[in-house]
Amino acid sequence: MKRSDLSAIPSQPAEGSPTGTEPSTDGTGIRVAVLGEYAGALRRIRSGDFDVALPTARDAALNQLGHEIGELAEVLEHRFDRFARLSQISLDMNSGLVLEEILERVYSSFRGLIPYDRIGCALIDHDSWALRARWAKTESVQIGIGKGYEQPLAGSSLEEIIRTGQPRILNDLEQHLAEHANSDSTRRIVSEGMRSSLTCPLIARGRPIGFLFFSSLRPRTYAREHVRVFAEIAEQLSVVVEKSLLYQRLLELNEQLVSSRQQLEYQATHDSMTSLPNRAAILAQLDQAAARAARAGAAFGVLMFDIDHFKRINDCHGHLVGDATIRQVGKAFATSARSGEAIGRYGGEEFLAVLEVRDVQALQSAADRFRRAISEAPVGPGELGLPVTVSVGGALSPDDGSACVRDLIATADAALYAAKAAGRDRVVIGAAPAAHRPRD
Ligand code: GH3
Ligand code: MG
Ligand code: MG
Repeated sequence: MKRSDLSAIPSQPAEGSPTGTEPSTDGTGIRVAVLGEYAGALRRIRSGDFDVALPTARDAALNQLGHEIGELAEVLEHRFDRFARLSQISLDMNSGLVLEEILERVYSSFRGLIPYDRIGCALIDHDSWALRARWAKTESVQIGIGKGYEQPLAGSSLEEIIRTGQPRILNDLEQHLAEHANSDSTRRIVSEGMRSSLTCPLIARGRPIGFLFFSSLRPRTYAREHVRVFAEIAEQLSVVVEKSLLYQRLLELNEQLVSSRQQLEYQATHDSMTSLPNRAAILAQLDQAAARAARAGAAFGVLMFDIDHFKRINDCHGHLVGDATIRQVGKAFATSARSGEAIGRYGGEEFLAVLEVRDVQALQSAADRFRRAISEAPVGPGELGLPVTVSVGGALSPDDGSACVRDLIATADAALYAAKAAGRDRVVIGAAPAAHRPRD
């Protein structure tokens, strides 16, 4: 608010004077003019313009009135500013969902309302009744209370703040430390260079959730005024922080859900012993390969594997060694498979592969590669004098990709039987089944 000198008062009524009364020798005209100015100032204040220039009057009562109007303008301007600032902070905070994001906004927007060189946020773990530091930002070079710093709440002075719901001002942290020598958090904050602090409880809908710590590098920074400002936004800030915690929990739950669904999907499609696709999954891949081949008008191949004399391994070394052998065979198959080849556990000690191959030669050479991966590698209880081998039966679909999957499996099965009959540890490719309708 500006004030003009008495001498500035016109001898004529001010423009816009409500009465337009002529000045008189006893000063009535001057008083009327001053009152007109005051009325104009009040109108401007009402419309939100607080920058009013008021003349001083010779009349003491009138002058007092002008003074009061001026003070009213100042108080209203201050309140209006604070309200506008708090509204902006509130808007900023509410547009954040993640805690760190909200606190960054608090750090950049509280300046001007509350002084600080550091803001820290710690949240209450209600299970262990401990306080865990979640976030801190500071102008100081070092952070002594970083994320994860934890302190028990039971018996602490913070518990008292929760109980009263009232912020606490410590305007000489060095002296506080001298009086509370075993306060680890005070020692750490003092070592960061902080000399005063304002500790504000975050209480959302009556439930304490944590604290916001404002700290300053200078002693005697905080006053009741700062507590009042915080009180105006405390509930809203607490609810926004609580909302961010719920949001985070929701994200975590969603992540858990996605991960358990992936786990379930994996379990439903994979054999737990070998980690290869299970029977249903490899048959589904066979169906897909048949559909793809039919679209492309190209052939594809199927291989069936059976471990030779597997019963002997079980009988001589027990089922655990039998199981380990199946696992090793599965691993060797998985390692040997190339791009365009899928292999799964068909059942017991039998495996099935689906291959993107165009002719019998390619199918034969892939089958040999798989067979040798077992017979030439240290698979099974070989060191016990029982080398492991597999027999392989193969089938190639018709050239045009039309194939009945069931016929292909039957052909590969018959070829496998032939490989067994011919002495095992060998590959037999069956005659391609005739062009057919898709698998029914
Ligand atoms: P062949 O060379 O003719 O295939 O002889 P084989 O002894 O392997 O005979 P067959 O294929 O008929 O026997 C398979 C055996 O595999 C029978 C079954 O007890 C055993 N087996 C099936 N699944 C498992 C398994 O998960 N673990 C163990 N240890 N044994 C299994
Ligand atoms: Mg078998
Ligand atoms: Mg067998």
